[in-house]
Amino acid sequence: MITAKALKVKDESQDNLHTYSNGISWQRALANAVRDPYELLQCLGLSDDKYEKQLYLPDNFKLLVPHSYIAKMKKGDWNDPLLKQVLPIQDEKKSVAGFVADPVGDLNAVISSGVLQKYQGRVLLITTGACAVHCRYCFRRHFPYASSMPDKDKWQETLASIQNDKSIHEVILSGGDPLMIPDDRLQAMCEDIVKIPHIKTLRVHTRIPVFLPERINETFLAWATALPIQKVMVIHANHANELDQVVGESLAKLHEADFTLLNQSVLLKGINDSVESLSALSHRLFSSKVLPYYLHQLDKVEGAAHFEVDREKAIKLLKDLKKCLPGYLTPRLVEEISGERSKLAIE
Ligand SMILES: *Cc1c(COP(=O)(O)O)cnc(C)c1O
Ligand code: SF4
Repeated sequence: MITAKALKVKDESQDNLHTYSNGISWQRALANAVRDPYELLQCLGLSDDKYEKQLYLPDNFKLLVPHSYIAKMKKGDWNDPLLKQVLPIQDEKKSVAGFVADPVGDLNAVISSGVLQKYQGRVLLITTGACAVHCRYCFRRHFPYASSMPDKDKWQETLASIQNDKSIHEVILSGGDPLMIPDDRLQAMCEDIVKIPHIKTLRVHTRIPVFLPERINETFLAWATALPIQKVMVIHANHANELDQVVGESLAKLHEADFTLLNQSVLLKGINDSVESLSALSHRLFSSKVLPYYLHQLDKVEGAAHFEVDREKAIKLLKDLKKCLPGYLTPRLVEEISGERSKLAIE
């Protein structure tokens, strides 16, 4: 029999979870995020001596990682797949032929302030340059956000460019990470977009449910649920360990709020380049109501060459993955080639 006392204890613990996952303040979690590599190493019980030789303190695109993500890393393990995604190392300074600042031709695709169009029917909005984390392999790590974002004064112009083109039926909020924008501004933006009659789908590309699950709070869920439009959220997880219980709960809430949930990953050397790792990720995603969408072959961005998995290996991996996963849990291996009219399948 459950006693009143046991019930009370249970309630309290649920409350705590509620407070954490529904963050009273995601802004505070972000303000407390680790920005110093030595502090990160200390959190993980790793000695600096070894890092000294590898030490890299970039002037821009510095280390940034929230504590809830660090908590998912294995203590004392330099090869932890989550740590490797965020710790700046000397390899980033290597200049490697073919690795450039704008690998996917974003700058040629700008059609108006903050609007990128590469593909038919869809536009992508660069809504902010900010992220809750700095992924070392990020293809937009050199993107000149300051000059390419829709500035607040130009929002009407940005909106007009979408209103005036009836061939656009889907707007993708990207960045940076659109969920870094405070609710009042983000809500206003979304409401402006969904009022356009030819826009049928609003899509959000975000890593925040994985890195700052506190952000998926009641305020956000309330207005997002009320948006009268089809909603897709494409999250970005690369490894099963990124999806813990708290992240799972945030995803369940997004699912309840009627978001179709998909995941995109980047194939990363030494992080998720094995059949075991990718299949564990797919299963973990599915148990959080998320279907795998794209597995990206690394975009050749300057500073990320050490993450590249060679093409033959990638193709073989996918072939093996298909043998052990149902079709709906197998991501599409794709690459983005500047100037092409869609992401291209690699087979
Ligand atoms: C990747 C991308 C999209 C989305 O492509 P889908 O195949 O629809 O997921 C849209 N616009 C731009 C500029 C992109 O880079
Ligand atoms: S969250 Fe996305 S945009 Fe931000 S650093 Fe990571 S990969 Fe780049």
